[in-house]
Amino acid sequence: MSGVGQIFVLSGPPGAGKSTIAARVREDMPDLAYSVSLTTRAPRPGETDGVDYHFVTREGFQQRIQAGEMAEYEEIFGNLYGTSEKIVRRALDQGRDLFLDTDVNGAEQLQKRFNDGVFIFLLPPSRKVLEERLRGRATEDEDQVRQRLERVRYELTKAENYTHLVVNHDLDKAVAEVEAIITASRRRTERHLKLLEEFQAS
Ligand code: ADP
Ligand code: 5GP
Repeated sequence: MSGVGQIFVLSGPPGAGKSTIAARVREDMPDLAYSVSLTTRAPRPGETDGVDYHFVTREGFQQRIQAGEMAEYEEIFGNLYGTSEKIVRRALDQGRDLFLDTDVNGAEQLQKRFNDGVFIFLLPPSRKVLEERLRGRATEDEDQVRQRLERVRYELTKAENYTHLVVNHDLDKAVAEVEAIITASRRRTERHLKLLEEFQAS
């Protein structure tokens, strides 16, 4: 992959707070590029096509997979979710940093390709709190909530592969920590060698 952009991936079990934190980061860091994922699941009330997700049919998604248009994808809870290759390539080739929300398997696929990527795992304070938040969100029926809770154990087994771990107890603190990780990573010296050259030439 050419270009100097870097990827920032946020994962964590359903209900961990990924969407909430991503929305705040998006507001605070408008110069980052944000990947809107594709999904075959139906929109929830209040979700907008092209903003929360690109909602597509299973056939449409499968065609994109066949055409090599997906940077990563995964089947989760009976639906396909994935990141468009075009979005990744465009951002990074323009030298823009890219923020993505993917499940642990999607992150694993990206980790193989981007070894300088930053992979943040968002951990809820406890299983009990996670369950309360998931139920409190009230976007899934009981079966879907149970399905999501069953997946938590699996997602946690992958957490140690992440470069950073943030606990989402207090929302403001978790947002500040995610932003601090991003900011620190964007200041890595190897990403700014041109500044040193320019200074020397001035
Ligand atoms: P995810 O995108 O990881 O599935 P959400 O962002 O939808 O999770 O968060 C799940 C629910 O928990 C939402 O109703 C959200 O408002 C709430 N929530 C997120 N973070 C916190 C927090 N730190 N304290 C209390 N509630 C939170
Ligand atoms: P939800 O249906 O609650 O919005 O998302 C369900 C799961 O899909 C979450 O674990 C979320 O991280 C994951 N997800 C969302 N977008 C993507 C994506 O582009 N790729 C992958 N692999 N997972 C995604």
